[in-house]
Formats: sequence, C-alpha cells, structure tokens
Amino acid sequence: MNLRVLLVCLVVFLPNALVAEESSGSPKEKKTIFAERFLDVRAGKIRNNLIIEMSNGRISSITAGSKDAIESEYLDLSGLTVLPGLIDSHTHLCDNSYMGADFDHWAYPAATFGIVGVANAKKTLQAGFTTVRDVSAPFYCDVALRDAIAKGWVEGPRMFVSGQMITMTGGHGSWGNWMAPQHQINTEAHVIADGVDEVTKATRTHIRNNVDLIKVAATGGYGTHGTIPGAASYSLEELRAIVTEAKKQGLSVAAHAHGADGIKNAVLAGVTSVEHASMIDDEGIRLMRKNNIVAVLDLLSARYDLIEKNQNYEDKDLGRTNNEEFDAIVTLFGKVHEGGVRIAFGTDAGVYPHGRNAEQFHLMIEAGMSPLEAIRSATIVAAELLGQEDKIGEIANGKYADLIAVRGNPLEDIRVLEDVVFVMKEGVVAQANAE
Ligand SMILES: [Zn+2]
Repeated sequence: MNLRVLLVCLVVFLPNALVAEESSGSPKEKKTIFAERFLDVRAGKIRNNLIIEMSNGRISSITAGSKDAIESEYLDLSGLTVLPGLIDSHTHLCDNSYMGADFDHWAYPAATFGIVGVANAKKTLQAGFTTVRDVSAPFYCDVALRDAIAKGWVEGPRMFVSGQMITMTGGHGSWGNWMAPQHQINTEAHVIADGVDEVTKATRTHIRNNVDLIKVAATGGYGTHGTIPGAASYSLEELRAIVTEAKKQGLSVAAHAHGADGIKNAVLAGVTSVEHASMIDDEGIRLMRKNNIVAVLDLLSARYDLIEKNQNYEDKDLGRTNNEEFDAIVTLFGKVHEGGVRIAFGTDAGVYPHGRNAEQFHLMIEAGMSPLEAIRSATIVAAELLGQEDKIGEIANGKYADLIAVRGNPLEDIRVLEDVVFVMKEGVVAQANAE
C-alpha cells in the first residue's frame, strides 16, 4: 500500500482510535487536501477539483488541479463536498438539557459545569462546528473551557465566551428566583445587577475576568421561574451603560430578548445582536435592519422544547398549542429574514442535546431561507458577528484551516450537514467517521 492510499484510509475509513492519533498532529505541519467538490460560500457555487494547501493552521493556497498532479502526501476527500467549518452563534456548552430546571442547578458543584462542557465541546466539534459563540455559563466555566481548548488540553471548537448573562433582580437566568426571601442569593456569582452603577461594575468585572463579549437579559425568558418572556427587564439607561462600557473595551454585546419592547430597548442601546426575538414586531424588524443589528434566532431549541419534548403546554395568553406556538416562531423567522435583517446561525445548544446543531439548517429553509443563505449564516455572517471575518467563515488564503466534508451536495439536500464525515480545525484533523 503506498503512502497516498494509506492517507486516504487513515482519514476517511479507519476507526476513530487511529483518527485520534492523527488529531494529535501539530497544526504547524504543512498539509494538502484534495477536494473533489468544494462549496465556495462567498461565490455561492460548487467548484470541482481543488488542491488546498495549509501551514501553521492556515490556508496557504487554493489551486485547481487533479490529484495526480499532487507530489506531496495529501488527504484525499474525493467523493465528498468540502465547505468551511461551521459556526454556532448561540451555545451553552457548560449546560445540558438533562441537567434539569433552573433550581436543579443549585445542586451541582461548580466543576460539574466544566466536566459536561468538555464532553459537549467534543460533540460540537465532531458535528462540524469549529467555532462557537457561547453566551452564558456559570462560574466562568466558558472562559476555562475556551482556554483549555486553545491550549490543546481538550478537543473542542474555538470559543468566544460571555461569562454568565448579566440580569436584573428577579430577571431571566437567575436561579435564585425560586428561593424564599429569607435565603441570600449570591448575586456576584450570578451576575445580578440593578441600576447604572451595578451593571457598569458587572460589565467591568466580566471584562477583568477575560470574557470576549457581554450577554445581557433585556427581557424575561423561558426556563426561568417567575419571569415573563414578553416583558422588558433592563431600562434603556441600564442597557446603554452596559453597551458603553463593553464597547469602550472593544467588546460586543448580545441581548437576550423575546418581547417587542425589550428588543427595541436593546436596539436603541446599541447592542450587537438580539438573541431569540420570538415576539419581534414590524418596528423591531425595521429598527434592527436600520441599525445593522444581527438576529440570532434559535429554531432548533424552540422545536425541541415545544414539540420534541412534547410538553403539555398551551400559550396562556393566546390559547395556542405547542405546534401553533412553534409555527408562529417559524413565521417570524421568515419575516425577520424578508425584512432584510442579517441572521447569524445560532441554536441555543444546551436547551437540546449538544451535537445536533446542524438540524437547525432545514428548519431555517422551511422558514424561508435558501440553502446557501442558511450556510452563509453559519459561516460568513456568523464570522462577521464575531468580528473574525479575517480569520474564519470561509476557506480562503490566510484564514484558519477550518473545514469539513459531507457526502452529497448541501445546496441540494441541506440535511447532509447533519452527517459530517470529516472535520479539520486549524489544520488538525479532529474527526472522521468510521463508516
Ligand atoms: Zn441561550
């Protein structure tokens, strides 16, 4: 067996144990990949027979040519479609759907969140997501996980992290809402802050503790006791104080917001993105477009909560069933998209089991996006949201060698993205299916 054939086997067909050895390879090594089909996400078309070279974890050249012309060792991805590593703009790697309701979280030692985070990070990377924006985790678990992945101690996607969401007393994300008044909530650990002075200090504390962005609750939310998702929480002044402090230090701000009033407050305060936006109105859509604010709309977690878990639920205000509630969220996604608001792919991973992120693509298409638009939302648009468009989001010279391969053409069948057979992050092979 010659070396070239051996490399083909190593990457595409051999069991994971051998692939794991491959994944310990240095990103500094020069590597060459032959891509029989290549999705150019910026041009929006498939190109055939490309030779991709990389060194120091970055793409160094992309040229057309047959594999017979390659003189060095190479990874042969014939029969597959190669595309950029995917980006999920809304994850919670340090949490899991099986960890219970908010009050259950009191029972876990802080280390538990890091331990589940390690397992979830690996699953996410193996699913083809080479970068995530992780928006709220307790006890700076996300900071620790980001750094452990960056050092190569554990496998996972490149992470951009917010620390725990900043929220008001009684607001979304506060586990303490279950507590009787005689108990003391550790407000510092849970980043509960009220008024301009406290939210400014909370933002500064997060920056001191090395977060990459700030997450703030601009409305109530689902899954937290005692909050109303449609109700605004922080005032415009409080939100402005957070945004001012964050932007002064070069950080972006992600606002959790369901209800229309809270969305408008967040937009007027100058946040970078609005997460969920499940009750956005026409004015909110117009304002988001006008101010070039990115929407991160999580259809997969909504479907998981409302339909897959099949909860005995009915919207108490509107008398809607689970299916009607989910359909309303899908319809709004379509309106936001048609309204010209940029949408970055984000799933709220952790609400549903980690690693299933790519199942959201087909929901986005059912809501009105084309397959290419959905893929761009998880590559080019998500990279722009992170301010990392010079490094990630497409396979191009000088950018990180983050790429994945799937069987079939995702522009014709988006669901092929749910079965990624090859993952490379920064020049290191992270996963290859044994099938
Ligand atoms: Zn979330």
